[in-house]
Amino acid sequence: MRIWQGEIDNAFVFTGYGDHHAGTNFFGGGCYFNGAAIAIHELRHRFGVKKAAIIDTDAHHGNGTWQIFEDDAEVLYVCFCPGRFVESKNKVNVEVPWTTSDDDYVQLVKESFIPRARAFRPECIFWNWGYDGTQGEYGDMGLTPECHVRLAQELRQAADELCAGRLIVVLCGGSRRDLAHLLIPKVVNALCEQQT
Ligand SMILES: [Zn+2]
Ligand SMILES: [Zn+2]
Repeated sequence: MRIWQGEIDNAFVFTGYGDHHAGTNFFGGGCYFNGAAIAIHELRHRFGVKKAAIIDTDAHHGNGTWQIFEDDAEVLYVCFCPGRFVESKNKVNVEVPWTTSDDDYVQLVKESFIPRARAFRPECIFWNWGYDGTQGEYGDMGLTPECHVRLAQELRQAADELCAGRLIVVLCGGSRRDLAHLLIPKVVNALCEQQT
């Protein structure tokens, strides 16, 4: 809400209860509430926001987020996971190989999310960020920690360009404390950096 009122540009949300596996009447995978969906509901209700974009770079499919917004073309949801490519009513599943590299992954996000977001013109962007695809994590896709920092920089830039910097990062997956310790400050830093 503080973002919408112009107090701050972006935010990092530490959730312990979600997010993307929670749907309207089901939950799973440690997700009990869907933070981005609740926030979008509130933004619409209280501030008349219409269009929001969600990018999901957790290693798993965001079945809850997909279900909630399945028939809602005013929400662009782009999920990056090993599931097959699907595109319907601004819900897009981008197929990512089980094992990939930082360069390929960042390139895929740049090609598959940013042009869609540019065409869609969201009023704010939510990033369902999971670091569970990092090497040694439970969703290991071969990514290094650096990949997440690069994604943060790309998405921060996209939000600056497309929606006055309104970017809400929702922590969505990942279990290793050492990675959390390393990555969360770096992602927050990328949100804070002055544009060069
Ligand atoms: Zn996950
Ligand atoms: Zn997916």
